[in-house]
Amino acid sequence: MGGNHGHHPGELSDGEARSRALESLLREKGLLQGDIVDKIVDVYTSDIGPLNGARAVAKAWVDDSFRARLLDNATAALREIGIGGMQGEYMVAVENTDAVHNVVVCTLCSCYPWPVLGLPPTWYKDAPYRSRVVREPRAVLAEFDTHLSDDVEIRVWDSSSEMRYLVLPQRPQGTEDLAEDQLVELVTRDSMIGVTVLPDYHAGVTA
Ligand code: FE
Repeated sequence: MGGNHGHHPGELSDGEARSRALESLLREKGLLQGDIVDKIVDVYTSDIGPLNGARAVAKAWVDDSFRARLLDNATAALREIGIGGMQGEYMVAVENTDAVHNVVVCTLCSCYPWPVLGLPPTWYKDAPYRSRVVREPRAVLAEFDTHLSDDVEIRVWDSSSEMRYLVLPQRPQGTEDLAEDQLVELVTRDSMIGVTVLPDYHAGVTA
């Protein structure tokens, strides 16, 4: 919890200010045209994340050694499978168990692990989620239809420009016979933020 933020709400970080300045300069010089920036955003939304996170989670479920490396040093473990870069330089993976449930927030702004989860959902950036999930995580999770029993400890992780978190959700019941690439498809963005848990799997039933 806690940690220093490199920036504050309503204030551009150095990186944001630089990227805006760069974008206007490139437009002015005619080097950046049309909707290229939107296309980059699309790539982050649909191609890069949250599929990357799902790949890491499914691999951790089937490969104990990778799971151990992910929990020990997520940045390095993610790099093994080709995930890394902007907004994901220092990653920490936190594992859900029968006793502990993890959820991620950025209380000051909207720090988020882009390379693993793509773009943050709107609610993640909104003030109500950012303030309430710290004070009353159980109530906030219930609003996502996540009802945890009282004996499950909830840990809330506050992201910062230095540290981004990835929740390793529990492998769903009923997936013992599934291959890694089938498991990838079951992992949702929200389960990796920690606001939901993955439902039991029933062969032949698609979500
Ligand atoms: Fe932030």
